[in-house]
Amino acid sequence: MTQAYRNLPSVERLLQTAEVQALTASLPREVVTDLVRGQIDEARAAIGNGADAPTAEALAAAVVESAETFTRLRPQGVINATGVIIHTNLGRAPLSAAALAAVRRVAEGYSDLEYDLPAGERGSRRVHAETLLTQLTGAEAALVVNNNAAAVLLALATVASGWEVIVSRGEAVEIGGGFRVPDVLAQSGATLVEVGTTNRTYAADFERAITEDTAAILSVHASNFKVVGFTSTPSIAELAHVAYPRYLPLLHDLGSGCLLDTAAYGMAHEPMPQESIAAGAALALFSGDKLLGGPQCGIAVGSRKIIERMAAHPLARAFRVDKLSLAALTATLMHYIKGEAADTVPVWAMISTTMEDLQERAINWSHTLGHRGEVVSGQSTVGGGSLPGETLPTCLLALDAASVPGGTPELARRLRTGATPVVARVQDDRVLLDPRTVSVDDDPALLQTVAAALKG
Ligand SMILES: *Cc1c(COP(=O)(O)O)cnc(C)c1O
Repeated sequence: MTQAYRNLPSVERLLQTAEVQALTASLPREVVTDLVRGQIDEARAAIGNGADAPTAEALAAAVVESAETFTRLRPQGVINATGVIIHTNLGRAPLSAAALAAVRRVAEGYSDLEYDLPAGERGSRRVHAETLLTQLTGAEAALVVNNNAAAVLLALATVASGWEVIVSRGEAVEIGGGFRVPDVLAQSGATLVEVGTTNRTYAADFERAITEDTAAILSVHASNFKVVGFTSTPSIAELAHVAYPRYLPLLHDLGSGCLLDTAAYGMAHEPMPQESIAAGAALALFSGDKLLGGPQCGIAVGSRKIIERMAAHPLARAFRVDKLSLAALTATLMHYIKGEAADTVPVWAMISTTMEDLQERAINWSHTLGHRGEVVSGQSTVGGGSLPGETLPTCLLALDAASVPGGTPELARRLRTGATPVVARVQDDRVLLDPRTVSVDDDPALLQTVAAALKG
């Protein structure tokens, strides 16, 4: 083993090789030296585990490969073949062509982000999305911030810091990714008052909990779990009847900003911000990149008085939305205004894809791959904290991993690390590809990665 260590080429020797020298044309010398050291360290660790010393040529090739990984643009684009439409780990909602064009226009030059063109003076970034949001939801006013977690925190800090907020025990939950209702309340400076039981809470429970110190009622949509059986939750309208006569704002965290009715697509009805406002919520709070199908952002719509106070709160500056997201959001909202969202907003186009289309695509994939898989029926899901337990029937290509040494896990790994990474669903020891979440434009790249992964 000691001999193997001695056989390792030195950093200097590797730096002299033609391949590594070539890297210094496009990368600083210190970066290349670090990459070389990294590969020598790895080789040393491998020797510790019983391997032989690699040749200088092999190490140089490894350095070149590590330079390719190092310089790759990140986050990388991937093909989502999981059938989970809003996949938080894969970046949630893809944007429409119009939203992408809007981002580009604003990113490559200057814009009237905070400039009033007719007046020739300073303007507000709030104006761009506000009229679209009020038009779509029926609310008096709107404010866009960095994400929904920020919208909820800002709303609570604005109306309830130093006061009590009443929440149903069944809704004092963790939504995922570090969003825990009790923690968010604590951060806002408000005190959580839990009422009811985990499975059943009534409007009367809220009524009884109201004291002189109550500042608001908070309702949180159970977006990523489902309590089934003996359950009861007051509706937004019932809570509004409790809150309104006592001048208490009712805040509704909807999670997904669903502006179209999911029931029209054969799924359960996901609450919509326009319904919350109509039912008497003072604020409806939701994400931009879940069922709304836009960029990451958080949206608050509702009472002008509260929205203005939120906008003036010091946290509003810390949470403010950036110009690229704002441009993508207004372009996305315009699809809803024009009544074309179901076809043009990618998440809705995926939801509304017909079974015939899905079947045709899965069969085409199978043909192109030389029948290395079986077309089977299965289920897609909405995901991303929307409609837990709800599924959409789909057609899948189940790949045959028999020819791949290592079988299903190895095939799935090869897909993930392919020229264009493909994230598949692994279920019952099968690699499944769902055409619902794969853009038709990505078919050639998908098939290239899959064909390469299936090779011996
Ligand atoms: C997703 C979600 C959040 C967090 O929204 P982000 O935009 O990810 O910050 C908050 N509340 C509910 C109910 C959610 O579903």
